[in-house]
Amino acid sequence: MRVGVPREVKADEYRIGMMPVGAEALVKAGHTVLVEAGAGVSSGFPDDDYVRAGATIVPTADDVFTADMIVKVKEPQPAEISRFRPGQIIFTYMHFAASKQLTQACMESEIVAIAYETITDKKGTLPLLTPMSEIAGKMSIQEGAKYLEKPMLGRGILLGGVPGVPPADVVILGAGVVGVNAAKIASGMGANVTLMDINLDRLRYLDDVMPANVTTIYSDLHTIRESLMKADLVVGAVLIPGAKAPRLVTREQLKLMKNGAVIVDVAIDQGGCVETARPTTHQQPTYVVDGVVHYCVTNMPGAVGRTSTIALCNATLPYALKIANKGYEAAAAEDPGLGQGINLVGGRVVNAAVAESLSLKA
Ligand code: NAD
Repeated sequence: MRVGVPREVKADEYRIGMMPVGAEALVKAGHTVLVEAGAGVSSGFPDDDYVRAGATIVPTADDVFTADMIVKVKEPQPAEISRFRPGQIIFTYMHFAASKQLTQACMESEIVAIAYETITDKKGTLPLLTPMSEIAGKMSIQEGAKYLEKPMLGRGILLGGVPGVPPADVVILGAGVVGVNAAKIASGMGANVTLMDINLDRLRYLDDVMPANVTTIYSDLHTIRESLMKADLVVGAVLIPGAKAPRLVTREQLKLMKNGAVIVDVAIDQGGCVETARPTTHQQPTYVVDGVVHYCVTNMPGAVGRTSTIALCNATLPYALKIANKGYEAAAAEDPGLGQGINLVGGRVVNAAVAESLSLKA
């Protein structure tokens, strides 16, 4: 199979869909890999590395899109959709549930759309989403600590404190992948961490394994209100699969918070769990409402393109190889979790959850 790896064209996107090691694995399996010139540079992989791996560097996106399968990172952009061909396999994040317009444009192009975010594993979790949640969780504390600094409009607080001065209070709403990774970093930096969730079994487990400066609390209206009053940094990390994020912090409650406190609403890609949250970009990541600094970047992992590329490609390569070696139908028959990733075939939505969320027929 001819596999194409284009340069990402979405703004603020520094990742690439395949590392040189992935190209080498595909070439060794008998496939041809076409990489657009310069596509790996912003994640630290120059063209020469791909050439050494056996890939062919091609000058333009038009050349890459002649391939049988395209391996990407972000959802298809209009310039990319115009290059799609019927029957071509596009393997990338799609986020169709969030955009009927994108879905319809891809349906019209009659591609086979295989979406990273709907592939499942044997445990029923989402193996191609987890690495990005791990990164966003760890980054949420790094960014929160930065915006707590006075020149960044924060309270002027050092997360870990120093001898004789108490550490900051970090409140994390949601103890899933993002929440646990945030708790690990915040506790490692010496903060007082409160980790909140509505899943008691999860809290029971985390109470056992987390360090002593992490307290688990059942999340309800009262405990959230109390936690906001003492928080220096709040991380929004909740998710109700397939739905908009629940609104856990109202505009009114910002008044309970300390002046210069920081909210990092990681759940912003699902609408955010804070009423005053609105999407921001890496160019302009924060704004202030009622004295509280809001950081609401929708593609946090994009800022650490090298780490994110490696984490993503580690997870996607085994699937790309299976699809290239066997064809998508045989690969899906062998691995039903991979089959869950197939969203569109021949102009039709074939994933029931995606169809339902867009009120389309599967
Ligand atoms: P997850 O499913 O692993 O965890 C979500 C947790 O939220 C679960 O433990 C769930 O029980 C809990 N929860 C649900 N309702 C709650 C409530 N009312 N109070 C407290 N906890 C509640 O999800 P995740 O992978 O950790 O992702 C969290 C969010 O971060 C998602 O919206 C995801 O899309 C988003 N995300 C954003 C970025 C970004 O760049 N902004 C990157 C990665 C993930």
